[in-house]
Amino acid sequence: MDLVDPFGRTIRDLRISVTDRCNFRCTYCMPEEGMKWLPRTDVLTFEEMERLARIFVERFEVDGLRLTGGEPTVRAHLPVLVRKLAQLRVPATSASPHAGRKPDLSITTNGSSFRLLAHELRDAGLDRVNISLDTLQREKFQRMTRRDELERVLDGIEAAKEAGFSPVKINAVIERGTNDDEIVDLARFGREHDVEVRFIEFMPLDASGHWINDSVVTQDEIVEKIHAVHPIEQMPARGTAPADRWRYLDGAGTIGIIPTISHPFCGDCDRVRLTADGNFRTCLFATDEFGLLPMMRRGGSDDDLAAEIQRAVGTKWAGHQINQVNFIRPSRSMSQIGG
Ligand code: SAM
Ligand code: SF4
Repeated sequence: MDLVDPFGRTIRDLRISVTDRCNFRCTYCMPEEGMKWLPRTDVLTFEEMERLARIFVERFEVDGLRLTGGEPTVRAHLPVLVRKLAQLRVPATSASPHAGRKPDLSITTNGSSFRLLAHELRDAGLDRVNISLDTLQREKFQRMTRRDELERVLDGIEAAKEAGFSPVKINAVIERGTNDDEIVDLARFGREHDVEVRFIEFMPLDASGHWINDSVVTQDEIVEKIHAVHPIEQMPARGTAPADRWRYLDGAGTIGIIPTISHPFCGDCDRVRLTADGNFRTCLFATDEFGLLPMMRRGGSDDDLAAEIQRAVGTKWAGHQINQVNFIRPSRSMSQIGG
């Protein structure tokens, strides 16, 4: 049975935050110190994640699961979870291209430990990987992530390719005055390393609350800068994917841009999220959460959980209100929600 929201959007994609913890402290996401971690007992176990994922996939025909966080690779034994999720089956009667097969399994990671995990995750059934990389300059990397780990991330990208992940995508959050001078360099990195760079507009989900509208480098500005050096043309409609895509006219690959602020794509959104502590969210910017973990631990049945999920999806907004006077920042920041 499809999970359809009040605006007729069918939910197909579930983002599961496997931990709120992280080994980096990116300035646009976390504060340097003082992050309060969830007590471990409040975090979903792999069995609980699998149970919820099963309801989404086998009952509601969700055909894409993305693991995120915090930093998903800091959660011990991550391949064990991937192996469990790879056992799920999208119903054979579904209209999904994955009907009768396992859902598409992907991860978003900062890449610093990916060399250690790439093969194991691939063998466990992971299909795709997005690695975050906002700068190619060591000092700036240290400033932006508060860690001196550029080399490890670059090596993580190579490890992902060597393990056979394809495509490997790079996520680059662009913040004015910080790394907007590297847009073309990052695009060139993608061309030279055969990876798709996806530029992300900076969103008001940073824990420090320093986001202002002027710090957003818009899709149009990004396109203009790249086009001036490496001509590009826009590709046909993206469907429900968050990124608009362009291809290089010389055939050297593609780029994506996630224009959350300047060109919101809420009308096509098919995503929902599960936080590490088992709260269900119907939007990154939602101010309401639905506690699935307490319901499970009180002995709720799969029918109870499915009914709560349907109730929550019934509250999904038409779209976020950023740039409007009535916008309220969610009380949790990106790493706590699961980006
Ligand atoms: N730790 C992993 C990583 O960094 O890839 C996964 C979690 S992170 C929260 C998921 C994605 O959100 C990353 O690509 C990160 O760059 C992006 N992100 C974090 N804070 C953001 C913000 N304020 N605006 C836009 N993107 C953000
Ligand atoms: Fe950690 Fe990812 Fe947030 Fe950076 S963006 S602090 S790597 S969760």
